[in-house]
Amino acid sequence: MHKFIDNYKRHINYLRISVTDRCNLRCMYCMPKEGVSLLGHDDILRYEEILRITRIVAAKGVSKIRITGGEPLIRKGIVDFIRELYGIPGITDLSLTTNGILLESVAPVLREAGVTRINISLDSLDPVKYKKITRGGNLKAVLRGIRKAHAMGFNPIKINVVAMRGVNDDEIRSFAQLSVDRPAHIRFIEFMPVDKKTSWDRNYFIPNSAVQQEIQKMGKLIPLATDNNSGPATVFQLKGAQGKLGFISALSNHFCSSCNRLRLTADGKLRTCLFSDEETDLKTLIRQGLTDAKLQKVITQAILDKPRGHKMSEPSFKKCSRGMSAIGG
Ligand code: SAM
Ligand code: SF4
Repeated sequence: MHKFIDNYKRHINYLRISVTDRCNLRCMYCMPKEGVSLLGHDDILRYEEILRITRIVAAKGVSKIRITGGEPLIRKGIVDFIRELYGIPGITDLSLTTNGILLESVAPVLREAGVTRINISLDSLDPVKYKKITRGGNLKAVLRGIRKAHAMGFNPIKINVVAMRGVNDDEIRSFAQLSVDRPAHIRFIEFMPVDKKTSWDRNYFIPNSAVQQEIQKMGKLIPLATDNNSGPATVFQLKGAQGKLGFISALSNHFCSSCNRLRLTADGKLRTCLFSDEETDLKTLIRQGLTDAKLQKVITQAILDKPRGHKMSEPSFKKCSRGMSAIGG
């Protein structure tokens, strides 16, 4: 089997699937207040179309899948879909990114459907602030979801925190403390200027170096070796802590040289780079009746065209026409 290798010798073995652009929250850094213009029923890839694309890429060595969105848990039939994904030969690693609001009730069936790893977004431990950042979210529901996920044995469970100056930077140490007290894996994600319509403002941006400095007031940060599941994060541990701390620095640190990812948007576009608007319209090709062999060729070409790296730090960088909720962060 020829694997997907791009022009920069990166082995592409990871597909992130956004199953919906809709969400039950409106996080300030991800969506505008009024929500995004939502795709219609026919604009969204049907589950069987996603399964077909997954089979095609799995035959070329893609083995890791992450389900994301929008909020994946709000799409009807998601658990049955995940179960079918897991049954595809070659898929060995199935994970999910969620805001956790609906997690408590579905955690057991997700586990049984084959999901082993889960990332939960949580930007504040204060219910009032959480509600403000997410524009309406209920922190208690997320915490119940996290507890349930622990009880069901998901491992690892990573908590994603977007640190923002003047918004939640006063909680950096509280999040870090969670990794001391419990075997929690907390990941700080730098606020990324992904799209034009959200509340991105350079003033909110805190480089992860500053987040680390703040945490170092609590003790020494010991670097840990990264593994296959670290993704773009660099991982540390506070001395004596049970858990870990990850740092994802899109703006200040290039992780492109080891990027093994493809993204499938909810409306069926294949993106080979999170920060580039270059897309391949697989949905239209599928609905025009392209054979699997031809689809595989198109995907192979898209991978060959995968850019070497993003250009976010360059003055010429233009924000993407879609936000994270539409791309699948
Ligand atoms: N709704 C799910 C959730 O919130 O986990 C999955 C989709 S969400 C788009 C995936 C991740 O993208 C979340 O961890 C979120 O914090 C992150 N994200 C969204 N917009 C971002 C931005 N502008 N900068 C950095 N991270 C962002
Ligand atoms: Fe929804 Fe996730 Fe975006 Fe928040 S980050 S608005 S939960 S898609």
